[in-house]
Amino acid sequence: MNLIGREFGRLKVVANDRARPGYVICECKCGSKVSVRSYSLTKKQNPTQSCGCIRKEIVSEIGRRTIHDNSAKRIETNMRYNTNFQIIESEEPAKNNKSGYKGVWYDPTRGKYEAYITLHRKKICLGRFSKLEDAVKARKAAEDELFAPLIAAKRAESRSAVAIAR
Ligand SMILES: [Zn+2]
Repeated sequence: MNLIGREFGRLKVVANDRARPGYVICECKCGSKVSVRSYSLTKKQNPTQSCGCIRKEIVSEIGRRTIHDNSAKRIETNMRYNTNFQIIESEEPAKNNKSGYKGVWYDPTRGKYEAYITLHRKKICLGRFSKLEDAVKARKAAEDELFAPLIAAKRAESRSAVAIAR
């Protein structure tokens, strides 16, 4: 059967593959050229429709949706707990933080270090300290008291979600 000139999905047959009997050279709409077995183009069940780019697009679409679902889940959890877990679980201080410690800033008008923590989007002052290390300690204690239970609850929730998914 002469397939030259015929189109199958995204593929157009341009020549017989001289190196491989039973195979034809196809141009794909995406621009690549491939050698395909003639039978796999004409068979009824699951014929070849592209150079492989259709499959790649499906895989990347699934990947994109997974990323989208995960971020939707994160937003939903943050709203339910009224907490930004990406911030409270991060060890990194904010970019504009000059003390180098999360929740500690130096107040030059008072000459003191102030420790604070943001819980449920409200900033709570934890005190002012002459020594940086005391401010860091106060912040750490507040994290243990306020953030740790929230993080533990959220993690327990995602563990049971994984268990159900299995
Ligand atoms: Zn292609």
